[in-house]
Formats: sequence, C-alpha cells, structure tokens
Amino acid sequence: MAPRLRQLTRHSLSPLASPGSAALPGGSASRPGGPAASVRGLTRRFGDRVVLDRLDLDIAPGEFVALIGRSGSGKSTLLRALAGLDKGVDGTLIVPGQVAVAFQEPRLVPWKKVIENITLGLRVRDPQPVARAALEEVGLAERVTAWPLTLSGGEAQRASLARALVRQPSLLLLDEPFSALDALTRISMHRLVLRLWEHHEPAVLLVTHDVDEALALADRVLVLGDGRITHSAAIDLPRPRDRDHPAQIALRLRLLTELGVPAAATS
Ligand code: ADP
Ligand code: MG
Repeated sequence: MAPRLRQLTRHSLSPLASPGSAALPGGSASRPGGPAASVRGLTRRFGDRVVLDRLDLDIAPGEFVALIGRSGSGKSTLLRALAGLDKGVDGTLIVPGQVAVAFQEPRLVPWKKVIENITLGLRVRDPQPVARAALEEVGLAERVTAWPLTLSGGEAQRASLARALVRQPSLLLLDEPFSALDALTRISMHRLVLRLWEHHEPAVLLVTHDVDEALALADRVLVLGDGRITHSAAIDLPRPRDRDHPAQIALRLRLLTELGVPAAATS
C-alpha cells in the first residue's frame, strides 16, 4: 500500500506570542475549533519493525491526556510524530494549531543565558519582555541571566517549560519531562504544570512511565501497547488528587494490569 500522510496547517515549533505584549495572556490564543490533535491509522515502521500500527487518537482542545506504556512501546515515536518531527510516518495526522514540546532533557543551549534560550527563534517584535514574563511564571525570575549549566535539574525543566510556553501552544507535548527529577522536585513540577495548564489552557499530551504521575495530572490516561491505544481511562476526580482515594487506587490497579504489571508487584 502506498504511504499516505496528510498533515494540515502545521505550525509546529514556530512562535506565535502576541507582538509587543510582555505578559503571556491566559487561555490558548491559537486554539482552533476542532480537536487539538486528530490521528487516524498512524503507522511507523523502523525496518521490519512496526512500532505504531494504525493508531487512532483524538485530543480535545484543553484536554490533559497522559500516555503510558512500557519502555520501547512507541510513546516518544508518537509524540515526535505529533510534533511534526518525524516525516517517516504513514497515516493521517491533523494538528491544526501551535505545538510546543518539552523533553526529558531540558535541551538548553549551554552557551546562551537562560533568557536567550527562551527568546531563541521567538519571532515577536519585543521578545525579551515576553521571555521574562514566561520565566517569572515558572518561578525563574531570579535566574534570567544565569547560564544553563548553573541551573538545578528542576530549574532547567522550568526553563524548558517557559520556552514551550512562549510559543502559546494549543497542543503542549511533554515527553517524560520529570522522570530525571527527585521526588520532591517532581511534586512541585506537577503543581507548576497544572497551574500553567489552567492558566493557558493548552491541550496536553504527557508521556510518562509513572502511573501515579498520570493519575495525579490527567483528564484521561491512555495505554500504548502493540502499536495502538489499548486502553483509555477517564479520570474525573477533582485536583489536587488524593492518591489514596478508593477510585484512584482502583484506577491505578487497572492501569498496572493493562501495562502487564502483576498486582502483587504494586504492594
Ligand atoms: P518509548 O518512548 O515508548 O520508550 P520509543 O518511541 O522511543 O519508545 O521507541 C519505540 C521503538 O522504536 C523502540 O524499539 C526503539 O528502539 C525504536 N526506534 C525509535 N526510534 C528509532 C529510530 N530512529 N530508528 C530505529 N528504531 C527506532
Ligand atoms: Mg520515550
């Protein structure tokens, strides 16, 4: 079958911050009417290996989706496809709005100061105040002129989030951004991400291998297995969530079972 890929009006990774405005406005400026992402029959092969196998996925505007799956199941491959970073996929991939990505490694340019990392490639009339506002919002007002290598792991991830934020994405893709952080820092990053999400209202796809992280943050948790979404669990518990809530415990067990982790291994 001939490869088939339609990607409509993608603007991934190109900035859209409002010209001349220092404060980052709340709400998603570039939010389109339809889904934030719509994927049909997405297939990715590496040689003979089919990593994504006719995968279907819709993400609603402003929805917070977590994607879990075993290591090597294709989570990053799916995220890269949504970001428009992988031209080797087949299928239909529609991402109508602005996309921004934060990876596990903050990927800051070491020879540019923090603020220059945020303004890098930011095509607005006056990028400095926009970048300062984003850094302030992620709690890095004091580190604006710091060198990236002097930042802690948590600070570097905050800078990475600020860099994503100034793009005013309607779809924010996060690929295990907290997995290298210690437990306390991770908790404060969870709070920050929820605050940013509530303020800016992007749709979020958070890739994580941590079931509890997914349960703490997401409206919906998807399980990726055998190249497709094998399970979808809606979570309508109010945030901040109590991990010992009976519904949360039941969801955790269900998701671990979906991941193939025996229940005994969780106690
Ligand atoms: P996950 O993020 O779920 O751990 P990935 O999406 O990174 O998994 O990778 C899924 C599978 O695809 C892995 O087996 C990986 O080795 C393979 N893979 C990913 N990228 C490439 C590539 N560029 N070339 C060959 N194989 C790849
Ligand atoms: Mg990965």
